[in-house]
Amino acid sequence: MTKENLWQSVLAQIQLNISEANFATWFKNTRILSREGESVLISVPSSFVKEWIESKYKKTILKILRGQDQKIKKIDFVVGKANPEKERLSLVSVNDEQPELKILQINKAGLNSRYTFENFVVGSFNELAHAAAQAVSENPGIVYNPLFIYGKVGLGKTHLLQAIGNEIIKRFPEKEIKYIPAERLVSGIISAIRNRTIETFKKSHRKIDVLIIDDIQFLAGKEKTQEEFFHIFNALYQNQKQIVLSSDRPPKAIPALAERLRSRFEGGMIADIGYPDLETRIAILKAKTQDRKNSLSENIYNFLASTIQTNIRELEGALNRVVLYQKTHNKKITLEEAKSLLKKTTSSPLQKITLKKIIQTVADFYDLKERDLVSNSRRKEIVRPRQIAMYLQRIKLQSSYPSIARKFGGKDHTTAIYAFKKISKELQEDEALERDINLICMRLSNI
Ligand code: ADP
Ligand code: MG
Repeated sequence: MTKENLWQSVLAQIQLNISEANFATWFKNTRILSREGESVLISVPSSFVKEWIESKYKKTILKILRGQDQKIKKIDFVVGKANPEKERLSLVSVNDEQPELKILQINKAGLNSRYTFENFVVGSFNELAHAAAQAVSENPGIVYNPLFIYGKVGLGKTHLLQAIGNEIIKRFPEKEIKYIPAERLVSGIISAIRNRTIETFKKSHRKIDVLIIDDIQFLAGKEKTQEEFFHIFNALYQNQKQIVLSSDRPPKAIPALAERLRSRFEGGMIADIGYPDLETRIAILKAKTQDRKNSLSENIYNFLASTIQTNIRELEGALNRVVLYQKTHNKKITLEEAKSLLKKTTSSPLQKITLKKIIQTVADFYDLKERDLVSNSRRKEIVRPRQIAMYLQRIKLQSSYPSIARKFGGKDHTTAIYAFKKISKELQEDEALERDINLICMRLSNI
């Protein structure tokens, strides 16, 4: 078997076992450099990918390799260009494409070139939305129409919507793309009505090939705008033009939205973005630190990621302050320094999740009494919410198992470990549970 075939067979097997989006994120542009005796050397496109593959997939890869050839004992990864030949070619073609023209196109579309798929980190919390966004960029107007992405503030909706626009410009330069925050759409429609130019307004919007509207929840209660938008939506939809929408909640939870619009929004693909877990938050921090050509000590990554849990924008803000500190002091920041630097950031209400709040929110969500939730009752309708509350206490507050167990029914720590493992495991398979927990988390950070 040639070394290329060897790597192809590894990729083929991995592809079967992980999601398409994850496969594309971590294994695109990897290739085998050498196979000598016991060891195999793989090239990966960035040190971020290298770190991720090493921590997550190395064992699996080695196992598959050994399945092909018992002699292989060792695998290493290096950062390098996936395909130097191709890289050079694509550089030439980018130059040929007149970047100024591209910049004009991006501006005209209302996009910001900073938001791309390349710098968007994928984890289980946003995997579906990311995969759908990519599919739409590859086949606008064909696969999911409309694509409706929802999630709480600061979790990547705008980034993903803009990435779709930027990617379509790259792939289909002839298409007309428009990114509009819903607020601007509303004021555009209102002033067009006032100036009696609404027909021209609608006509110009019907020409668009890809219409991206951010924060569509702003249409709530705006009847006249909804009515005009409904006509634009229909015209585009009937002509197989792509529509992409984002919102801070699913269509059915947007208040005062005309039924016919709601059912249009629900007619395509709805994908939610939840909260990133600790591991993903660290991965995001690492990717962004690298973008800023800097690096932090492991304990600082951990500190930032465990302090700021529910908002990637805030995570990024905190990172910027730490990086700036390191650059101006020309040294690595210490944990103590990082803590005092972030005092202000961490006092924002979004991070103030307390055990009391978890208990309140979970009890409320499942219609139970708080008293029951922390009792040692074995009633089925109480046991599971209690396990969820224990799980959340662990995830959100990093409490120790003995203290969790004490709080919930005064049991010993194995009960808490059991609850945590059980919910973590079920979360992988049970979509309804995942949805419940996401909703609970949203409420937790909103109170
Ligand atoms: P939203 O529109 O949901 O409020 P944004 O898209 O504005 O959130 O994201 C907030 C910030 O976090 C942006 O700077 C964005 O680039 C960053 N961000 C969000 N999700 C990711 C991700 N998965 N990978 C990298 N950066 C992200
Ligand atoms: Mg946004």
